[in-house]
Amino acid sequence: MPRSLSTRGLSILLTSCLVISPLLEARVRPSSGFNLFSAGEEVQAGKEASAGVGKQLPLLPDSEPITQYVQRIGADLAAHAPGEKWPYNFHVVNQKEINAFALPGGAIFVNLGTIQAADNEAELAGVMAHEISHVVQRHGTRAASKQMAAQLPLALIGGLLGTSALAQAAQMGISFGVGSYFLKNSRQAEKEADLLGADIMYDTGYDPHAMAQFFGSRAPQFFSDHPDPGNRVVYVSAEVRTLPAKKYRGTSAEFLAVKPQLNGMKPMTAEQIAAWQKEKQPNVIASSTTAPSPSLNTFKHSDYQIAYPDNWQVFGDKNSTVTIAPPNGVSQNAVAYGAMISSYQPEESKATLDQATHALIASLRQSNADLKQIGNDENIRVNGVAGKSVDLIGPSPIKDQNGKATQERDWLVTMKQADGNLLYFIFISPDKDFGKLRPVFEQMLKSVRLR
Ligand SMILES: [Zn+2]
Repeated sequence: MPRSLSTRGLSILLTSCLVISPLLEARVRPSSGFNLFSAGEEVQAGKEASAGVGKQLPLLPDSEPITQYVQRIGADLAAHAPGEKWPYNFHVVNQKEINAFALPGGAIFVNLGTIQAADNEAELAGVMAHEISHVVQRHGTRAASKQMAAQLPLALIGGLLGTSALAQAAQMGISFGVGSYFLKNSRQAEKEADLLGADIMYDTGYDPHAMAQFFGSRAPQFFSDHPDPGNRVVYVSAEVRTLPAKKYRGTSAEFLAVKPQLNGMKPMTAEQIAAWQKEKQPNVIASSTTAPSPSLNTFKHSDYQIAYPDNWQVFGDKNSTVTIAPPNGVSQNAVAYGAMISSYQPEESKATLDQATHALIASLRQSNADLKQIGNDENIRVNGVAGKSVDLIGPSPIKDQNGKATQERDWLVTMKQADGNLLYFIFISPDKDFGKLRPVFEQMLKSVRLR
């Protein structure tokens, strides 16, 4: 160390680092990218999501020896993770399917089936190192930031930096709970997590090849949230070759000790968990059953035509108000998920689009006083036709797991018809799912043709 931080001293220091430390150079640098969330908000977002996980998935208690074993491996790996020191914590989900996921800020969940499928501790550690890497790289909040930037005008993003990204995200229906769109990783994110995970394994004393092998051999069903980037074994091996040869840990006595207990455990299947969720929260519509199909049907109304996911249903006919929704998105005449399309005749026959839209909102609020507009209405064009876009928020027919009311997002789009009436679309979703459904709603809107 130079005694004083003179410019010359510093440059010598930097040069010597480059020369004597090829090891550092070989390590993967955690990638960074556009992120609206501060580190504190990242931790807060993860905490909020984490609190909900136990209500949606059956977790093994912390007192369970398997959980404690996983927590010890996790702590060891986390101590070797680069970057920010996130408050890592580890949990076991009593689920059979091989999967694992990480929340922003360090909560990591490993399915019991994943642990049972591991032939040795290094394979299990590989899955966990991979998850830790998603946390280090902040993949969840980066994906969410991207989405927020796409939805918000640039000017608002500027203002947002002064306020809370978390509050803004919540308002936009972006969350990181179980099944959140933002926990599903891109192939690019997967590769980054593999490479960084390989380094973390190496530094913790595990053979990184075990991770690639485990992912590779279980690839067909491995991790619906972690798509196969391809060539895993090849690039992980290439990464390991950049590191000095090393003697890795052998099979741990602890792994051998928990193995017989593991073999005797019968985790729940995804189906059983869905039934368990239903029993616990009868009003929650399982998101898997409302997942919109990517293939589309077209509905032809006398006033317009619109495309919609072909596993959704049209309620109504070509001359009536129409609701297009997943079969279980509608209950007791309330629409929880889906689109409602209708027309509105303003009292003032010469009303402009703007005036007619505000008259419509006032009339909607007459039947639902809790309906509130959020943000300003915007001028949009739908296939060349001038329209208005308004975001509303109101009570959802869906209750949460404690029987409490939840909020829904209603995205209202209006346009003028040739007869002077207003054609309007209300795209409806529970607030927490709006981010997931928005692309579907946008696709539907883009397909609209007036007749
Ligand atoms: Zn992953």
